[in-house]
Amino acid sequence: QKAEWRLLKDAPSVTADGKQFIIAANIGTPNDMPGVHENGAEAIGLYRTEFLYMNSSDFPSEDDQFEAYKEVIEGMNGKQVIIRTMDIGGDKHLDYWDLPEEMNPFLGVRAIRLSLMNEEIFRTQLRALLRASAYGKLGIMFPMIGTLGELRKAKAILNDETEKLLAKGVKIGDDLQVGMMIEVPAAAVLADQFAKEVDFFSIGTNDLIQYTMAADRGNENVSYLYQPYNPSVLRLIKQTIDGAHKNGIWVGMCGEAAGDSVMFPILLSMGLDEYSMSATSILRIRSLMKKLNTEDLKELANQACFVSETSEENEQLVKDLMAKLN
Ligand code: PEP
Ligand code: MG
Repeated sequence: QKAEWRLLKDAPSVTADGKQFIIAANIGTPNDMPGVHENGAEAIGLYRTEFLYMNSSDFPSEDDQFEAYKEVIEGMNGKQVIIRTMDIGGDKHLDYWDLPEEMNPFLGVRAIRLSLMNEEIFRTQLRALLRASAYGKLGIMFPMIGTLGELRKAKAILNDETEKLLAKGVKIGDDLQVGMMIEVPAAAVLADQFAKEVDFFSIGTNDLIQYTMAADRGNENVSYLYQPYNPSVLRLIKQTIDGAHKNGIWVGMCGEAAGDSVMFPILLSMGLDEYSMSATSILRIRSLMKKLNTEDLKELANQACFVSETSEENEQLVKDLMAKLN
């Protein structure tokens, strides 16, 4: 890490013209917390809870989950923590959960689909999350939502568990937020409608790119199609941000693209509110943000989405713009 970046550890995340945003960290377990603090994260934008299930020989109990979530929430001292309900399936398997083999696992029973088909396991996780919400500022986030029906079903189950806990006198956080990932293109297209039913979005570009380009994110043979700067992907991102803002909710990104130096100026130009990345990327991006003036970036989003025709063109567009700054 550059010495210049280290100085920004406790600095706010602001642009050259003083606009402030949130730079957050992605984590997989409470063991990742030291890195979060060392790199000055302003929030946890994504806690991938599936590792709790994967690093275990049986389903983690409600209390085990509660302890893990509470540790992370308390560790952030009032800063927001977004915890995603389990994203099992796709390429993530559990030895103790015998799920049917599928032809196309990334297009099959994964994430929220699996949770809604196994309600008791989902309810256990939600209870642990709701109990932990009393210890700080929690956001509960649903992965892989593709339809309003799925979102409404997940929210109804969450509300049901909330009411049951409240009836028992269990304390639940006052500023609990409920959000969803935007990583299925169908949800990005209908973002304005989804935005009416959640407190926030977080764009998962790792999946959004693979599903938009129909290119398996782990398959080398089609990696040439895995194009974060493709105008089609950028339009979906812009549409998501616009749909969120039109309805008064905030929108973040927790896919790898949030910490990508070429993508970052484009996202800033679109007005993305929160950028969540691996902790080791935070200071590099905070330093880059400091050099950028949102006035200079005004036209970038429209150009990248509606004038450029290819991913390569967009990469060059940002590089030319950055060269002018230096
Ligand atoms: C994503 O899809 O961008 C994301 C953050 O989720 P994951 O990488 O865990 O699928
Ligand atoms: Mg994903």
